[in-house]
Amino acid sequence: MRAAALAHLSAGQREAAQRAALRRAAELGIGSLHECAGPAISSPEDLTALLALAEQEQGPEVFGYWGELGAVDTARRLGAVGAGGDLFVDGAIGSHTACLHSPYADSGRGGAEYLTAEQVADHVAACTEAGMQAGFHAIGDAALDAVVRGVRAVADRLGLAAVRALRHRVEHAELLDAAGIAAFAELGLTASVQPAFDAAWGGAEGMYATRLGAERARAMNPFAALLRAGVPLALGSDAPVTALDPWGTVRAAAFHRTPSTGSRSARPSPRTPGAAGGRWAGTTRAPGAGAPASYAVWAPAELLVQAPDQRVANWSTDPRSGVPGLPDLTPGGPLPQCLATVVRGRTVHMAG
Ligand SMILES: [Zn+2]
Repeated sequence: MRAAALAHLSAGQREAAQRAALRRAAELGIGSLHECAGPAISSPEDLTALLALAEQEQGPEVFGYWGELGAVDTARRLGAVGAGGDLFVDGAIGSHTACLHSPYADSGRGGAEYLTAEQVADHVAACTEAGMQAGFHAIGDAALDAVVRGVRAVADRLGLAAVRALRHRVEHAELLDAAGIAAFAELGLTASVQPAFDAAWGGAEGMYATRLGAERARAMNPFAALLRAGVPLALGSDAPVTALDPWGTVRAAAFHRTPSTGSRSARPSPRTPGAAGGRWAGTTRAPGAGAPASYAVWAPAELLVQAPDQRVANWSTDPRSGVPGLPDLTPGGPLPQCLATVVRGRTVHMAG
């Protein structure tokens, strides 16, 4: 269905949509975007047109990812910084296609396996040898296990340091147990997570609990445990699955629908971005593509989002916030509004 829809999109319609997305991002204070492109979800023309438009428009920067198995050369030719993104190891919980070790509570089936650990290993080896970041979409515990086994096989073959240096990346990483979290830390994997998924589908009564049973659903999206283990955590939207919404994303992480697992909090605190050696970031980068953005406190009524290469957003926050230097992120309350967005010294958005 997606292929049919994309086939009917004219170049003009696509450009209009891409312009609108870049404009919206700038209004929201987003200085750089990651485009997870691939043969299954977009096209080479779509990615190259977007990268050219971003260059020409001088708005938010766009970092492209190309999710095609083994296609390191194609990724490079298209101008992508990573060979990954939506390179599907499995599907999604909602459609019973995330790959699970034990069956879904409401279907009795185990999900879909699109890639094996051996295929993951071949891709990661090719990327590591080419000095390019690899990435995968993996949601279920069995899919994440395949990623870990594949990456570990490459570490055994090419050396752990070579693998860690590329900061290979996993989109979603939702049903990850303690052993998986430890493996992410050991192998230097970045978890690119979507807190809005938990806000939409987490909690005792949510869709995850329906699909997995309440007990297994509690282990979904272990943001705080990943940070405690020192795994770099990149917060994203998976737009259009959930909306571009930077502060809503931070709020969804800080108010995880499962407040704690065992005695440990499942809610990372926005006050401690560097806790336990881990870090939160609005984005994550391939090596060589600059450092990740970081959130930093500037003044009681304003917050600066800043990266070393000068992506800056100037925010208005509710001065009645009880937490000096941080906006009040209480669910239901107003979120900071972006007043201005500056990318590499250029103003790409100015409110009013
Ligand atoms: Zn995905």
